[in-house]
Amino acid sequence: SNKPRSPGRHFLQIPGPTPIPDPVLRAIDQPVIDHRGPAFQKLSKRVLEKVKAPFKTKNPVIIFPSSGTGGWEAALVNTLSPGDKVLMFETGQFASLWNTMAKSLGLKPEFIESDWRIGADPAQIKERLKADKNHEIKAVCVVHNETASGTTSPLQEIRQVLDELKHPALYFVDAVSSLASIDLRHDEWGIDVTIAGSQKGLMLPAGLGFNAISQKALEASKKSGFAKSYWSWADMLANNANGFFPYTPATNLLYGLDVALDLLEQEGYDRVFARHRRHGEATRRAVVAWGLEVLCKDPKYYSPVVTSVLLPPGHDADAFRAIALENFDISLGTGLGRVAGKVFRIGHLADTNDLTILGALSGVEMSLELAGIPHKKGGVQAAINYLAEQAKNPSHKL
Ligand code: PLP
Repeated sequence: SNKPRSPGRHFLQIPGPTPIPDPVLRAIDQPVIDHRGPAFQKLSKRVLEKVKAPFKTKNPVIIFPSSGTGGWEAALVNTLSPGDKVLMFETGQFASLWNTMAKSLGLKPEFIESDWRIGADPAQIKERLKADKNHEIKAVCVVHNETASGTTSPLQEIRQVLDELKHPALYFVDAVSSLASIDLRHDEWGIDVTIAGSQKGLMLPAGLGFNAISQKALEASKKSGFAKSYWSWADMLANNANGFFPYTPATNLLYGLDVALDLLEQEGYDRVFARHRRHGEATRRAVVAWGLEVLCKDPKYYSPVVTSVLLPPGHDADAFRAIALENFDISLGTGLGRVAGKVFRIGHLADTNDLTILGALSGVEMSLELAGIPHKKGGVQAAINYLAEQAKNPSHKL
């Protein structure tokens, strides 16, 4: 093309896929090996064990060569039967897509509708479960971090609701954009299937889909009435026991995962989570200083991973994003579904530091000016003030 080269690094500030750290890229860039041979067996056994860490589980984690959507389907078809009722909460576009999938598979989802401006509300979930006297609801499905709206759901509180009501439903959590960015404890919080993908907090390209499963989910899988083949846990677990896969695995992504897990371990998960919280707060302070509105309207549900920003009526968020890309080589997230054109999203997750965030916020502030969007100056300064103050606190360095 005639476009001149863009110097420096592209600012990939979408909420996943996220930039890949150099050591992970180098790990992926290795010769392909025989996936039925001893070198692969060694790699795969190590990775299948190590991958339990971000899920905080001692149970098996299944790795599909798939995107996160495959993880959704695998969770449903392995544990449930056609016609089963499931309870879902409309946190945003991804919860809506999961709901659509459940319907196309022949499940009967009960969808708690919402305006995309809060996370999954435990009180509303409680109300529905309480009314379900005959325990017809077989699973409760929650999106931990709704990437479209920038809301995070209180997983532990929802577990408590199930416990309090002694409701036997399985508990499924979509952690596609929260795993390794927001604390999640598969075992301790009684999650039955945690679904994740490789391209967000795990700092890898897309191409791995995960199901962490509980003993209860494993039991349910023995009675599940869905036809399944590619997604079958049974075949996977039988093969994984020897370090192999029932079909060709994404070998080079597993090389990458091996190193990405080391990087997370080296930083320490608590520090990783604190870093995400800090960057979420810095971003929201910038948005407030600009006089713009954060889509998430209740601080209880603020996301440490992504902030969706509402533009004033009459301003097209996608035109704004195009200006940012053209002038500053920064990709901001587009508004999805019902908020298309109305919001843009700032991803602040994965391999990110204070200066990356400040660079991204500078790109946004300058683009607001270029796009003629009414705003106040000082968003970047507000973020600087907050991050500088935080840097004085030695605890975040641990
Ligand atoms: N769930 C959430 C919360 C997501 O953010 C995404 C993708 O962004 C998905 C599910 C779907 O995953 P994938 O696009 O990898 O199939």
